[in-house]
Amino acid sequence: MRVLIVGPQGAGKGTQATLLAENLGVPHVSTGDLFRLNIGHGTALGKTVQTYMDKGELVPDEVTSAMVAARLEDEDMVNGWILDGFPRNLSQAKWLGELLAERGSALTSVLVIDAPDEILMERMMARGRADDTADAIQRRLAIYHAETVPLVEFYGDLVLEVDGVGEISEVQHRILRALGRSDLEHG
Ligand code: AMP
Repeated sequence: MRVLIVGPQGAGKGTQATLLAENLGVPHVSTGDLFRLNIGHGTALGKTVQTYMDKGELVPDEVTSAMVAARLEDEDMVNGWILDGFPRNLSQAKWLGELLAERGSALTSVLVIDAPDEILMERMMARGRADDTADAIQRRLAIYHAETVPLVEFYGDLVLEVDGVGEISEVQHRILRALGRSDLEHG
């Protein structure tokens, strides 16, 4: 399965993507995690992306897409993957569609996980990540609404909307059911 996970910050997409990847036995690729790893290791890419991330801005498309293209080439990706946090705007979505089409491949589904704003805020406060300043949180939410939400219309019938409110395992069960993989439900 080649699945995208889309959702606002605090919707639990990272947690759910990790679990889903384990359940499906495919890699979980999070662009945010890859950027943070590069920052942690002090790489050139890390230095390039740091200021964007601190401000809650999107990293430029060409930087992000180059990183995703390289990761998609890896051998462990051949049997499917969960892409978390990419694409985040229409131009990234179109770019990904073309890349997959060139390889005779396509997306299986686009999971959209959402929750009411007050729950998102509660979870953001509890998370305490280095880039979770009040300004960055607001900026990311504004960008999500302006740039990422249009993906729902773009992907049309591929979209599976899942309610992100509830226990982690409960939300995971909803996701597996939405994907038609209730056979993998456990715990
Ligand atoms: P996340 O871990 O998904 O919340 O991403 C953290 C930060 O990484 C975002 O606020 C952006 O600065 C950057 N980022 C992650 N994915 C993308 C993307 N697809 N395009 C541009 N910037 C991204």
